[in-house]
Amino acid sequence: DVFYRQLPKVELHAHLNGSVSFETMETLIKRKPHLNIEHSMTAIRRGQRRSLDECFQVFKVIHQLVDSEEDILMVAKAVIQEFAADGVKYLELRSTPREVTETGLTKQRYIETVLEAIRQCKQEEVDIDVRFLVAVDRRHGPVVAMETVKLAEDFLLSSDGVVVGLDLSGDPTVGHGKNLLSALEKAKNCGLKLALHLSEVPSQRDESELLLNLPPDRIGHGTFLHPEVGGSDSLVDKVCKQNIPIEMCLTSNVKGQTVPSYDKHHFQYWYKRGHACVLCTDDKGVFCTDLSQEYQLAASTFGLTQEAVWMLSQQAIGYTFAPEPIKQRLEKKWAELKQQIL
Ligand code: 5GP
Repeated sequence: DVFYRQLPKVELHAHLNGSVSFETMETLIKRKPHLNIEHSMTAIRRGQRRSLDECFQVFKVIHQLVDSEEDILMVAKAVIQEFAADGVKYLELRSTPREVTETGLTKQRYIETVLEAIRQCKQEEVDIDVRFLVAVDRRHGPVVAMETVKLAEDFLLSSDGVVVGLDLSGDPTVGHGKNLLSALEKAKNCGLKLALHLSEVPSQRDESELLLNLPPDRIGHGTFLHPEVGGSDSLVDKVCKQNIPIEMCLTSNVKGQTVPSYDKHHFQYWYKRGHACVLCTDDKGVFCTDLSQEYQLAASTFGLTQEAVWMLSQQAIGYTFAPEPIKQRLEKKWAELKQQIL
């Protein structure tokens, strides 16, 4: 539907390697024929579902395909251009810096390359403001987490405002947040904004209690926070009192089977309470979606009017990690476009 494409949008939860499109994937697969990778191993198509564990296997396959500076530059530029083409005006991209001995890739160069892609898109006047969150993969434990925070801190100071925060992601069934607490505290103290995946699976309740005390600046998914699904009133209280926006990824949660169906998505619970919610794609490549489609799905599933959809996209400006002048610029853009579109 043309309204959802034209709607100016803010994307706040997008993992770089999960966002690689079908077309870019084709190029990567052709570049590395010896890996024998097929499309079905890198994307979950319409009507298909996987377990969360199988989803994390998909990322391992993609990481084999994206393992050099050249690859990262290509995928990052393509992903940014695709979000812009979908009407995303402000994007916070996140990615886990990786080191690959065979190609000489270092974590430092990894981040520099993503920043180079952002710079090139800006120079080419792609109509989108892009910021970057350095991601910590919880699977790698506290030592790597602390190293990643230090790296992120360096870039916070040297990237001209492009690096704005830290993400905590990776397989939620592995490790415990208590071991990562000191790294996250350090990140917060040095001025990095925190976007943490919380309560993606039911077993994370204690961890969420703990991490909500930081508090994070935004929550990723938060699927099992509320009591109806085994969370608790205390968790909901913490989220509400501190007014922490929640990044909601409908298709990702349904395809990854942490949510049984679109109409049972926890968006409903939080949206009804008037809590800060932002619709996001998570991994548009892996889950074969885009942000326009996510807005359309939310609207059709929960019966939102176009006015309500507009409000949802506009309110997301307030949940970005952008500095105040950028938020004001975005507000102005939304105001200008409103007359044309709504
Ligand atoms: P990358 O950080 O390599 O750019 O993007 C892929 C990585 O993002 C995965 O290896 C994983 O750590 C993280 N990721 C992507 N989607 C999800 C998700 O739905 N949940 C969690 N917890 N992590 C994810």
